[in-house]
Amino acid sequence: MNEEFQIRLDIVECGRRMYARNYVASNDGNISVRVGDRIIATPTGISKGFMRAEDMVVLDMQGRVIEGACKPSTEIKMHLAIYEERKDVNSVVHAHPVHATGFATAQIELKDCVLAEIVTTLGSIPLAPYATPSTTELPDSVRPIIRHADACLLANHGVVTCGRDVYDAYYKLERVEHYAHILFVAKSLGGAKILSPQQVHKLETIRATYGTSDAHNPGCIACHGACIGSDCTLYETQQRDQSASDLHVEETVRAIISAKK
Ligand SMILES: [Zn+2]
Repeated sequence: MNEEFQIRLDIVECGRRMYARNYVASNDGNISVRVGDRIIATPTGISKGFMRAEDMVVLDMQGRVIEGACKPSTEIKMHLAIYEERKDVNSVVHAHPVHATGFATAQIELKDCVLAEIVTTLGSIPLAPYATPSTTELPDSVRPIIRHADACLLANHGVVTCGRDVYDAYYKLERVEHYAHILFVAKSLGGAKILSPQQVHKLETIRATYGTSDAHNPGCIACHGACIGSDCTLYETQQRDQSASDLHVEETVRAIISAKK
């Protein structure tokens, strides 16, 4: 069996799992794999649970169809943008799993260090600002975030993950949804307890044994200053919020002084 046919079968299998696990409804979601300068992508209008190897569409890196009878997903622009940003990535998976999409719809990023398996693998899971699906707004909102993160919530929409191959990207999607489900349960039990900086630091020292690179798996900014620093996707927001609050303090002090004069 040639390599490309095996990749098509792997995409079919991941699509089947995605549909079986309720990560997508109807014909939603999309999967792609980069092979050299070709992209093998899932077709639009076919349920991800019932695809066949021959349904796949082959595109060039500009998104032009070069093989296949079906049309590619309208979200292919987001996939192409991720391949452009991440030379280390060979697969992109997008879906709408219920719990993770619930957090995305509430616009809550998963940034707290509360679960060992997440700190050592995905780190923080940031939120890309809302963008109209299937337009260039979506790739534009994802680009700055996916440079640092392998998994990203899409505000009021869903989740996108990427990896070295289709199973790697798919398992990250599974991990995000499992994490979001646990957080949802913890919330109903009074809320997750955040790990201490010492506990987080210990976990970060064993990240390498999980094959996790800090550059693409941001740490957490909510763990009492134990953030991995400027590699974190949330670092700039944190800095901006900090300087905005410093400015607010300055303005308040100035107003009090001038009122006293
Ligand atoms: Zn979608």
